Amino acid sequence: MAHKAVMIRGDGTGPELMAAVDKVLRAAGAPIDWIDMPAGEKCLQAGQPIVPDETIEKIREVGVALKGPMTTPVGKGTVSANVTLRKKLDLYACVRPVRAFPGIKTPFEGLDLVIFRENTEDLYAQIEYYVTPTMTLAKKFITVRGSERIARAAFEYARKHKRKKVTCVHKANIMKICDGLFLSTCRRIAQDYPDIEFADNIVDNQCMQLVTKWRLYDVLVTENLYGDILSDLCAGMMGGLGVAPGANYGEKCAVFEAVHGSAPKYTGMNKVNPTALLLSAVMMLEHFGEQKAADRIVAALEDVFIEGRHRTYDLGGSSGTSEFADAIIARL
Ligand code: NAD
Repeated sequence: MAHKAVMIRGDGTGPELMAAVDKVLRAAGAPIDWIDMPAGEKCLQAGQPIVPDETIEKIREVGVALKGPMTTPVGKGTVSANVTLRKKLDLYACVRPVRAFPGIKTPFEGLDLVIFRENTEDLYAQIEYYVTPTMTLAKKFITVRGSERIARAAFEYARKHKRKKVTCVHKANIMKICDGLFLSTCRRIAQDYPDIEFADNIVDNQCMQLVTKWRLYDVLVTENLYGDILSDLCAGMMGGLGVAPGANYGEKCAVFEAVHGSAPKYTGMNKVNPTALLLSAVMMLEHFGEQKAADRIVAALEDVFIEGRHRTYDLGGSSGTSEFADAIIARL
């Protein structure tokens, strides 16, 4: 039986990436029944909210969505579509696997870790204002509930996937109250998982350690903003944003999306790498229990990387988005 999933094509390069991913999934025999729903720039231009209520409702009903990247208008007071989805659907756990793929050159051999980023709190509450015309203030909020559930999600994942260590990343030396609460909550949850090592690291030190001692890290659990920044750092370590997937999980819904944005300068050029969105779709297949189709796609993708004849520009090649997808399909 086919699994129902909402498809949001996204802005900029989103629709061409989604078309490439859709054809790979079809070729792999993944049983997905797509429901196309609108969100993003086009909705704004039509005078609608950036994510219309009907799209939110449909995801609630179906429980799963694959989302292309969306453009966020800068400084116009419009809330980001991504933040809207995460908040309205309470997608509190942003999960970003990071690994060195065979065939992709990176100095970070053996890189293999997973970032758990808290998705609903922190400075992303977007509570900021002018105190005076020359002074601004932003509020950061961290709760025990928010910290508990992301910590537990990280430990549960570690146990399920036989990972050995969870590291809490914070800045509790400076943000003693907010980050102090996040750290102490993670420490308390860690006591329920004596089989998994627990460590913590200050975020700046964590960045340095990641590029010097990446093999020491397994699962990282962190707040919203640090998670955002660490994700892009780790994406660079993997070979770039073109290969970094992600997923957002809540109690009732899951939305799968690449780490990267809409790469607007390449819109319509059939140029960007569909790997990140494809691997996000693979995470969706795993969520549905379609492990066989997921494994087939990853094996075919790795074959294409190892063979090295087909690569998009970001990995030093000249294949287009759709040709790269065709190369994967040929391997399937
Ligand atoms: P971006 O991720 O779109 O692009 C950053 C760089 O990475 C660019 O050089 C781009 O060409 C390259 N890149 C991105 N995706 C790629 C891919 N699949 N293959 C190859 N190269 C790729 O980031 P940006 O330029 O800062 O943001 C553009 C828009 O996207 C903004 O409006 C931003 O708010 C939005 N954004 C959306 C999401 C999301 O939808 N989850 C995430 C980040 C940024």
